[in-house]
Amino acid sequence: AAAARLQSRQARRTICASAATAEAETFQYQAEVDRLMDLIVNSLYSNRDVFLRELVSNASDALDKIRLLAVQEVDEYKTGSELEIRIRADKEANTIVIEDTGVGLSREELISTLGTIAKSGTAKFMEAMKEKHDANLIGQFGVGFYSAFLVADKVTVSTKSNKDDKQWVWESAAGAHSYTIKEDTAADIPRGTRITLHLKPDATEFADATKLQGLIKQYSEFISFPIKLWVKTS
Ligand code: ADP
Ligand code: MG
Repeated sequence: AAAARLQSRQARRTICASAATAEAETFQYQAEVDRLMDLIVNSLYSNRDVFLRELVSNASDALDKIRLLAVQEVDEYKTGSELEIRIRADKEANTIVIEDTGVGLSREELISTLGTIAKSGTAKFMEAMKEKHDANLIGQFGVGFYSAFLVADKVTVSTKSNKDDKQWVWESAAGAHSYTIKEDTAADIPRGTRITLHLKPDATEFADATKLQGLIKQYSEFISFPIKLWVKTS
């Protein structure tokens, strides 16, 4: 049954993708972010598996924000959707999907948080990497999102915020120096963020539920939201 469900989901996604005709806008990475991407893509090979910890921790932060708004009785945030993190590996497509039902990002937030404005940690992280080439440190510098590019050569972020009536899709390829944003006409996320990692040819080992389960145990033990891992049963 699980396998059938997985298949129908994939079919649905394909239909949605072909219906997406909105035009993409291209944005250049700020120079420092561009250098950071370069470093991550081309020279960090140890501890690449920290990408999962970083993306799960971002999902958890986004869920914390919703929980807080709900406690403050901000009505639009009291939605019925479960506060949870869902992870799915797809061997055939060579992807990993990490999804949360957190605050999501508006179009403006996408632009300001993912690429255009370098954080103070960007330069500091690159400085630290000169001493010790270790991807494990990335989260400490507030640039954990970019760890996705340790294992992915393309990253797609679909997101829906209560602050924005539209769902948006941010996409960037390793080494592209730019990212695109367009309306996600799939409009299939009630609220939250879905990150798809299109794995590099040398990172295909991560498109495996057992492998991911091990990493979740190792790195994300203290996450206070349910982490649901999609496992293919047949
Ligand atoms: P940090 O988590 O330390 O702020 P990151 O590079 O990991 O740094 O993430 C940058 C920003 O991107 C976050 O602060 C948040 O605003 C946004 N972000 C990343 N992932 C998500 C997500 N799953 N949901 C909502 N916002 C996110
Ligand atoms: Mg983070």
